[in-house]
Amino acid sequence: MDALTVSPGGVLEVRNVRKGRSLYTSRLVKGGEIIIDEAPLLLLVAPEMAQSTCIACLRAVRPKERIECSVCFQACFCSPSCQLVAQGTPWLHSVPLCSAYKQLAALGLSTDDQAQLRYLLHALALRHAGTPESERRFAALCSLVGEPTEAEHAVAGRLAPYLKAILAGLNAVESFSLSGEELAMLLRKEQLNSYGVLASQQQVAAAAALQIGISGVCGSGGGTTCGGGVSAGCSSNNGGAEMTPGEGEDGERRLRGSALYAQASLVNHECLPNVARFDFFDSSRSNSTHVTFRALHDLPPGTELAQSYVPLHWSLAERQAQCRDVYGFDCTCPRCQTESQWNDDEGEDDDESEWETDTSDEDLETDDAAVAAAGEAATEQSRDAGDPGPCGDQEVEMQDAQPIVRAPPGEEGPLEPTYLRLFLLKYMCAAPGCFGTAAPVKPGSTLLECNVCGRTRSEREFLRELERSQQQQLQLQLQLQQKKSTTRPRSVR
Ligand SMILES: [Zn+2]
Ligand SMILES: [Zn+2]
Ligand SMILES: [Zn+2]
Ligand SMILES: [Zn+2]
Repeated sequence: MDALTVSPGGVLEVRNVRKGRSLYTSRLVKGGEIIIDEAPLLLLVAPEMAQSTCIACLRAVRPKERIECSVCFQACFCSPSCQLVAQGTPWLHSVPLCSAYKQLAALGLSTDDQAQLRYLLHALALRHAGTPESERRFAALCSLVGEPTEAEHAVAGRLAPYLKAILAGLNAVESFSLSGEELAMLLRKEQLNSYGVLASQQQVAAAAALQIGISGVCGSGGGTTCGGGVSAGCSSNNGGAEMTPGEGEDGERRLRGSALYAQASLVNHECLPNVARFDFFDSSRSNSTHVTFRALHDLPPGTELAQSYVPLHWSLAERQAQCRDVYGFDCTCPRCQTESQWNDDEGEDDDESEWETDTSDEDLETDDAAVAAAGEAATEQSRDAGDPGPCGDQEVEMQDAQPIVRAPPGEEGPLEPTYLRLFLLKYMCAAPGCFGTAAPVKPGSTLLECNVCGRTRSEREFLRELERSQQQQLQLQLQLQQKKSTTRPRSVR
């Protein structure tokens, strides 16, 4: 097990484990503590959001401050300083990339193809910029997990002629060439490691007003859509609002772009995470492009960091399908084991809204002391705690039969069902339709903040909601009993 300290202060170390590289705590981490704070390797704007997303910092640009690229008309900047930075940085929007964008737009390709080609162009720009910084970034990009599959080879083969044509237009075919194998490798790295960044509400509204057919919808994997990703999951932290940021009227999550981070991509998946990812693209802070991860609860030394690549409210079948089909592994996490043991009337079904109202069944006790104790237990168990996930609603093929999930030898077994329910109630955002993950605002705080909508919830509010959900549950059970007794023939007894 080789350990490599990757964060200042020795908070984290990389270990090689059965499922690949993974990050572990090397000391006690307090709930609410920021354990990763990292600058991106690459930021990519979704082509359909190019007129409202700054190409340098991914900020949602207001019409008043918007500066359009007057050469390609395929990019915009949120400020003169971002314009200067973008035009002066080879992998942002320097002259060759600007010309490439212009040529790409003229090809009339689908937004998905454009997004993938833009990514490849940025990767090529990194590779050939020839500065120590670009070399560092390209090496980090290549060291991300992901070996190309047939699917990426096919995409690479299909996109290569377009790439060649664009590079020929720049007179750069010679110096910028990449083999099909390298293209497939780069596509796979992007697919497995990029984060989808949700559009702001204004962007969604503007897109709807323009009647743009947006294909940058979360969850479909690849390109600038979210759902690629060892570290995937989309996130946006735009502050509380009625509609979840990035969500269109149809309830689908819109993406403004995607981002690649080296260290964050080492955080593996579990369906009950212990860290939550926060981003700040629209904030006024100086490091607005940094991604941060906060611990949901205390993590003892030697704890593997875990985030959820899928929204926390997804059913077992949906999560299993997504992990297998998009990320290429079978999830055998403790939550999946627990839920696979449930039979249909015990709880889990394939209803997405399950965790909205059906937050508990047989297991929750009703007296306050038990609730408080259970809530405490949920915070203390140093296992999972939920991260970001909210990739939005997604069509996943349902399986008829409940999959049976067992732990591989030497790994953790199933969870207590009560713990699982309380965990989700506590760490999944209570705002309707949000399903973000909530983490303490700072170490020692009991105020939890959602990583998608930014809402906060105090311990008191949590306990109130817990009580309400139990009452709902009781009422449901009562109704069910009444229904049974009215339909049952009286002569039975
Ligand atoms: Zn900007
Ligand atoms: Zn341009
Ligand atoms: Zn799982
Ligand atoms: Zn939320």
